[in-house]
Amino acid sequence: MPNATTDTYDVIIIGAGPAGASAAAILAEHGKRVLVLEKETLPRYAIGESLIPYCYFPLERLGLIDTLNAGNYQRKHSVQFVRRDGKVSQPFYFSEHFDHPAAQTWQVSRETFDMMLVDNARAKGADVREGVKVTQALMHEDKVIGVRTTSADDTIQDIHAPITIDASGRGMFAITRNGWRVQDPALKKIAIWTYYEGAMRDPGIDEGATTVAHVSDKNWFWYIPMTNNRVSVGIVSRPGSVA
Ligand SMILES: Cc1cc2nc3c(=O)[nH]c(=O)nc-3n(C[C@H](O)[C@H](O)[C@H](O)COP(=O)(O)OP(=O)(O)OC[C@H]3O[C@@H](n4cnc5c(N)ncnc54)[C@H](O)[C@@H]3O)c2cc1C
Repeated sequence: MPNATTDTYDVIIIGAGPAGASAAAILAEHGKRVLVLEKETLPRYAIGESLIPYCYFPLERLGLIDTLNAGNYQRKHSVQFVRRDGKVSQPFYFSEHFDHPAAQTWQVSRETFDMMLVDNARAKGADVREGVKVTQALMHEDKVIGVRTTSADDTIQDIHAPITIDASGRGMFAITRNGWRVQDPALKKIAIWTYYEGAMRDPGIDEGATTVAHVSDKNWFWYIPMTNNRVSVGIVSRPGSVA
C-alpha cells in the first residue's frame, strides 16, 4: 500500500537532467512549489557534452553564464568537418557569423554541468529528491493528478500535484507508457563512445573545437576535447552498417 504524502506542490517534475532542472529553477523563481524526482543519485554520468552557441540564452535566463565562465569547462569557438576522403574543412568559427558572447560556448562534463543546474534549482527553492523513481502517473479520469514513486529503500509513495512535467529524457517515461514512440527510419542510429586522455588537440582558439568526421554514408565520428586532458570520441552509425 503506497504512503500518501501530505506535502503539497504546484508542479512535479520527473527527472533532474537539464530539462527538469531548468524548468524547476524557473518555476521556483516564479514562486511555485516544485518537486523534482530523480531516480539516480547525483551527480550522475550522462552523454551529451558539446554545447552549441544558442545554449547561451537559456543559460543566461537561468543566471548561469558567470558560473560557466568561472568553472572548469573547455571553451568551444568552432566546429570543423572532415570529409569521407579525409579532407578537413576550415574551422567554422561562430564569431565570424555571430557578434555576441554566445559565439563562445562550452564542452561540458555532464556530471558537473547537470549538477550546476540542479544546484541552481535548489538555490531557487525547488525540492530535488534523488534516488526516487517515478513508476506510474496517477490518473483521475483522463487527467494526470500526480505520480507513484519507489525510493531506494523500496518505499512506495503517491504524490499529488495539479501539474506533472515529464522531463525523463532518454528514460521516456510518458512515451513508453502511452505507446507514443514513433521511429523515424532515417534517424534509426546507434552510437558507441568512449574517452581518451592525452589525445591530440589543436592549440589556441581551436583547442576546444568539435570535429565531426564523416567516415562513410551517413556514419560519422565526433571528437570533443574536454577539460582535464580528456577527449570524448564516439561513432554514430546505422545498425548493422560498416563504418
Ligand atoms: C550519443 C549521444 C550524444 C549526444 N551528444 C550531444 C552533444 O554533443 N550535445 C548536446 O547538446 N546534446 C547531445 N546529446 C543529447 C543530450 O544528451 C540530450 O539532449 C540531453 O541529455 C537531454 O536532457 P534531458 O534533461 O531532456 O534528459 P536527460 O539528460 O536524459 O535527463 C533525464 C533525467 O531523468 C531521469 N529519469 C528518467 N526516468 C525517470 C523516472 N522514471 N523517474 C525519475 N527520474 C527519471 C534520468 O535519470 C535523468 O537524470 C546526445 C545524445 C546522445 C544519445
